[in-house]
Amino acid sequence: MRIVNFSAGPAMIPTAVMERAQKEFCDYNGSGCGLMEHSHRGPLFDEILARANSNIREILGVSDEYEVVYIQGGASMQFAMVPMNLMLPGGYAEYADTGTWSSKAMKEAKLFGEVKCIASSKEDKYTYIPSFDKWQPSTKEASYLHITSNNTIYGTQYQEFPEANAPLIADMSSDIMSRRFDMNKFAMIYAGAQKNLGPSGVTLVIIRKDLIARTPANVPTMLRYATYTDNNSLYNTPPTYGIYMLALVTDWVKEQGGIDGIEKINNAKAAALYSAIDGSDGYYKNPVCPCSRSRMNVVFRLPNEELEAKFVKEAKAAGMIGLKGHRSVGGIRASIYNAVPMEGVEKLIDFMAAFKKAN
Ligand SMILES: *Cc1c(COP(=O)(O)O)cnc(C)c1O
Repeated sequence: MRIVNFSAGPAMIPTAVMERAQKEFCDYNGSGCGLMEHSHRGPLFDEILARANSNIREILGVSDEYEVVYIQGGASMQFAMVPMNLMLPGGYAEYADTGTWSSKAMKEAKLFGEVKCIASSKEDKYTYIPSFDKWQPSTKEASYLHITSNNTIYGTQYQEFPEANAPLIADMSSDIMSRRFDMNKFAMIYAGAQKNLGPSGVTLVIIRKDLIARTPANVPTMLRYATYTDNNSLYNTPPTYGIYMLALVTDWVKEQGGIDGIEKINNAKAAALYSAIDGSDGYYKNPVCPCSRSRMNVVFRLPNEELEAKFVKEAKAAGMIGLKGHRSVGGIRASIYNAVPMEGVEKLIDFMAAFKKAN
């Protein structure tokens, strides 16, 4: 096994995918040069783009009512593009504040209209997703409702999604393609690729066709969704290598049994890790409400910060990296995205037991 990388992102990519990319790196498909050297308007790249699209549509169950496009600038640029394109004139948008990324999205939206925070767990240090009966009801007049499906830093995740009267938009950067969900509930979803889909530099956006016409006339060309949807993401040069890796990663997801196969493995990984934490007689503690636990980012604390530093250091020596919690919250975070194998999680669990015994 390669080193087990528990980093929150960029994160592990399936080894089989890395090996295939390596094999094809200098000579793609017998063409005599690497894919990165090929035109984005040639037949080789055409095939890759079409494959990425059809894999994504198949795995996520995306109907013809939606467009699938690839945009640069990361999920962070979507924080601005969403309100810039979709805030109705003089309108307001609804946001649920469940962590740092939600707050950042709200900050950008305030530049383009009024923001109504209709649910928040900020007062409780973002340790849960507010239960829907505590939300202010979503309104028909709102331009949209924005949520963050998985909170990468705090280790919380929506177990189900709210009923919204406004078009529902989700930042799914850290749990896209990790579990089954009903795409038809959403007006739009987006995700930076570097957690579950491939390398950084490409952001997947899936948007319902009827929303695209909303964009005000003064939005610049490269920041308009229509520029991407009208041109099959080829208005200008797209991140060709990132899209290629996305095609390979989604091929791999299909080989794992598609979304249900992946979800089953993810559930088993998360259940094993949480049970190791819960069964440690309080030595390891997960601060999150059990009803909101993330199956992607598992956060936990040790009895003190010195032990946490020692844990990270010794885990690294044992071949496990990326375990330090986000600098804003401390503690330990094991990100167990799709590409982290069950054996990697088992290795961490064994290490946790040995560390506890020795310390
Ligand atoms: C990582 C992350 C982001 C930021 O993504 P960039 O591509 O770096 O802009 C946004 N939202 C969530 C939920 C994330 O996990």
